[in-house]
Amino acid sequence: AQNERDSLFIVLNFANEYFKDILHNHEEGKSIGLSYFKERGFTESTIDKFDLGYTLDTWDGLLKAATAKGHTEAMLEKAGLILKPEANKVYDRFRGRVVFPIHNVAGKVIAFGARTLRKDKKQPKYINSPETEVYHKSNILYGLFQARKAIRNADTCFLVEGYTDVISMHQAGVENVVSSSGTSLTKEQIQLINRYTRNITVLYDGDSAGIKASFRGIDMILENDLDVRAVVFPEGEDPDSYSRSMSSEVFQQYLEDNAQDFITFKTNILTDGGKQVDPVKKVQIIREVIESISLIPDGIKRSVYIQSCASQLDIEEQVLISELNKILIQKQ
Ligand code: ATP
Ligand code: MN
Ligand code: MN
Ligand code: MN
Repeated sequence: AQNERDSLFIVLNFANEYFKDILHNHEEGKSIGLSYFKERGFTESTIDKFDLGYTLDTWDGLLKAATAKGHTEAMLEKAGLILKPEANKVYDRFRGRVVFPIHNVAGKVIAFGARTLRKDKKQPKYINSPETEVYHKSNILYGLFQARKAIRNADTCFLVEGYTDVISMHQAGVENVVSSSGTSLTKEQIQLINRYTRNITVLYDGDSAGIKASFRGIDMILENDLDVRAVVFPEGEDPDSYSRSMSSEVFQQYLEDNAQDFITFKTNILTDGGKQVDPVKKVQIIREVIESISLIPDGIKRSVYIQSCASQLDIEEQVLISELNKILIQKQ
């Protein structure tokens, strides 16, 4: 019901203000949370722009503050802010972590991501709000609220893996950027981007997980008839770390110089940077690329990409066309 959604927005907004207050005004928040963000190179204005916060390393910081202001446990639980494993056991979901609020396109806080500051691997690095009545993670892109005007102006959108990638790119002067925050890209998320632009450039981490995720993302984008490019980062770098290792100008130039159409991107990765490959491997690569092309709804685009694939992989276009047609017929 609309009433319940409004109550959720109110309690989520309270939590957001509380986490920000702790970050800026509480000793633990300042010495641990704020210094962490500063060490990562985030400026005050960035911290404000993204509403970043901190949660105390206690069981009930938010719970106490919120109930003192009249918010009910029931509402806090529905908002995903507290956990109630048993009847008389109740505690904060997010504890001792820096907090990244997630906004809807209208700018209302609907959920949180929270990062541990511990280096040990005993806890997950990030934890997120559960699905709630106002937060359906497959329909949300982190950073879209802050990026939407820039996406429309630039008529293109960068897609990254994580919260900090979005934030650091803003700081590097690239504001048309969103993140699917660790989940694989969905049709709904692509349709959200499609309201602002039909061009997406995927910037995934330079590791095997990032490459895998970028391949899946590219296929999803092609299937939904948007245009896709990709940029590779050096091994071990992500858009956050890489943008901070150089000036904004150099980073922006890197993005421009290294954006590849998906055929070039896939082929380069699969051939390990354009190396000669044996015939067995080459067949696999060709199949892999044709599979992606077969997802494109538009026949003209398919044909252009087939041409490009033929020349890049040095194989007869006619052979590719007949293989592509076999796949297309199977799909009917
Ligand atoms: P950082 O730079 O703070 O280490 P990152 O964004 O580079 O973070 P990655 O490990 O590259 O972290 O993961 C990308 C994204 O995936 C994160 O921003 C987060 O949204 C999500 N994620 C990572 N680890 C987890 C986890 N254990 N549980 C849930 N989501 C996660
Ligand atoms: Mn990663
Ligand atoms: Mn990363
Ligand atoms: Mn990172």
